[in-house]
Amino acid sequence: MKPAPFAFLRPSTLEEALAALAGEQGAKVLAGGQSLVPLLSMRLAAPSMLVDINAVPDLGHIDIDEAGVRIGALARHAEVLASAEAAETQPLLAMALSHVAHPTIRNRGTTVGSLVHADAAAEMPMVLRLLEGSVDVASVRGRRTIPAAELFAGPLESTLAHDEIAVEAFFPALAAGAGVAFEEIARRHGDYALVGVAALVQLDGDEITGARLGFVSVSDIPTVVDVTEAVNDRADPAAAALAELEPADDIHASAEYRAHLVKVLTTRVLAAAIDHARSRAR
Ligand code: FAD
Repeated sequence: MKPAPFAFLRPSTLEEALAALAGEQGAKVLAGGQSLVPLLSMRLAAPSMLVDINAVPDLGHIDIDEAGVRIGALARHAEVLASAEAAETQPLLAMALSHVAHPTIRNRGTTVGSLVHADAAAEMPMVLRLLEGSVDVASVRGRRTIPAAELFAGPLESTLAHDEIAVEAFFPALAAGAGVAFEEIARRHGDYALVGVAALVQLDGDEITGARLGFVSVSDIPTVVDVTEAVNDRADPAAAALAELEPADDIHASAEYRAHLVKVLTTRVLAAAIDHARSRAR
């Protein structure tokens, strides 16, 4: 199928891009195009105008300091994945990004675009929520920061207004004493996950003071569950998590199989994250 007709604009400044979005209710931002272009081709989206931000300067940065990793709107998944410094500051970035699609798609697709696309089957929205990061957005009205907990409104729906551009995402650094792990099951490596689970644990000596899990493909929006109590009470953290998740049937897997994967992967990632925290302390 071919996309419905649309106007196309490739502004060379952020201000121009923001003015175009503000002036056209049906306009949409085009970043890497790896989600939007298939939607256009299948006519699941029919914007009146595409505002291509690829010529806007100063959006391709990956800035790293002790607070965390700041990723500009035009930084490609592949560039973030290739950054050893980003992986050292926040190891969950590379752990999850290596499961995002295939190299050709990662070469073009942007990490910020994936966050705004807000797909509960995508890895990076879950990672942003689990790490309690945020996204900085700009519009003709000014700038604001949206915490990850307030970014996802529903399936494929973020809380950005139609005329806002996400300019940067912030992923906090891994704290001292913390550990992370990620695993997913997909039909082929790089396909969307049938289920993915990430763990973030915080140790104080031998004591586990925090244990949170982030889930991919088992709810409508990226979901994080705090299982600290279940872990410390020697209860079943996966059962605690499943009480808050909604695994669903689709053509790829049954709800029952997804629930089974949640149990298996939860056990694995919690153990791996605790090992990770201990190995960092040595
Ligand atoms: P685009 O396609 O350009 O845009 C996506 C949406 O976000 C659009 O609505 C657009 O208007 C909006 N948008 C983008 N950037 C901004 C911005 N800066 N400000 C405001 N709005 C913006 N992803 C995964 O996470 N895991 C996978 O396993 C996976 N597998 C894939 C397999 C295939 C075959 C394909 C084609 C894609 C796959 N993807 C996967 C999607 C990929 O990661 C996309 O790159 C990503 O979801 C969107 O980034 P993009 O830059 O391509 O955004």
